[in-house]
Amino acid sequence: MVPSACRGRFAPTPSGPLHFGSLVAALGSYLEARCRQGEWLLRIEDIDPPREVTGAADAILRTLDAFGFEWDGPVIYQSRRTETYRAALEALRRLDLVYPCACSRRQLVGHARRGVDGPVYPGTCRAHHGHDPALAQRFRMPADRLVFEDGLLGRVACNLSYECGDFVLRRADGVYTYQLAVVVDDAEQGISHVVRGADLLTSTPRQIALQQALGLATPAYLHLPVALDEHGDKLSKQTLARAVKAARPLPALRAAAAFLGLSLPADIDTPAEFWSAALAAWPGHRLPPIRGRRANPCNP
Ligand code: GLU
Repeated sequence: MVPSACRGRFAPTPSGPLHFGSLVAALGSYLEARCRQGEWLLRIEDIDPPREVTGAADAILRTLDAFGFEWDGPVIYQSRRTETYRAALEALRRLDLVYPCACSRRQLVGHARRGVDGPVYPGTCRAHHGHDPALAQRFRMPADRLVFEDGLLGRVACNLSYECGDFVLRRADGVYTYQLAVVVDDAEQGISHVVRGADLLTSTPRQIALQQALGLATPAYLHLPVALDEHGDKLSKQTLARAVKAARPLPALRAAAAFLGLSLPADIDTPAEFWSAALAAWPGHRLPPIRGRRANPCNP
């Protein structure tokens, strides 16, 4: 089989049913991949057991299916891939890019500077080497300035150690973090185009730094505007954003497309008609700007 030049993905965390915000990310990543004749893969990011809600992964898959999303290949579950994350952590350790950290959150209060998305770890344990599996494992972030091109925002720059700092790759409870897992999985699944909400924009410099350390390719990134609630906060499964109804795909699909600024004909009656109209309208389409606090925290 000739691999597709473009491969996108949708990577929901099963902490609740599919809600409007994640539908927007699914739709944007799907249209971007399919308009490039690309593949679209699904990955369930169930790496953090306490955040997972029983049955949510299946409910998300059923809703996507009912909405007419068609995915390529088998669905990947992060919970089954800890061996791969362990190997990546080992590879980083061999490069002396990982150190054990004994700091508790409480110890860090008052010592941390604010970075792109929160307190920056002050590097208290940076001089530690070796391996203590009972402790959290942090990535030694390089002092470099990183620049990447975002499909909507254009050039995004970040001073890695100053604005992001050393971040955790494996928690003290043994759970591998999102940043490590997403980098390993995007590379292993051959993802060339990452399209996701702008709430993850500040994670991208960390992920590119990890890709560079592991010698992995960096995909193209496009961060979409994020749906906010009436308080200006991101709609998320944690804030109990309302689930989209699997039984009524059309109103939700239309609303997600409208949120992304797609104007579609009014006389669409079926999901099949929706998909052909959305796919026709997407190429060259101008996305609405990212607004609010998250507009571009990397380049304030
Ligand atoms: N699992 C993340 C979420 O549901 C998305 C990760 C990503 O797209 O990189 O918010």
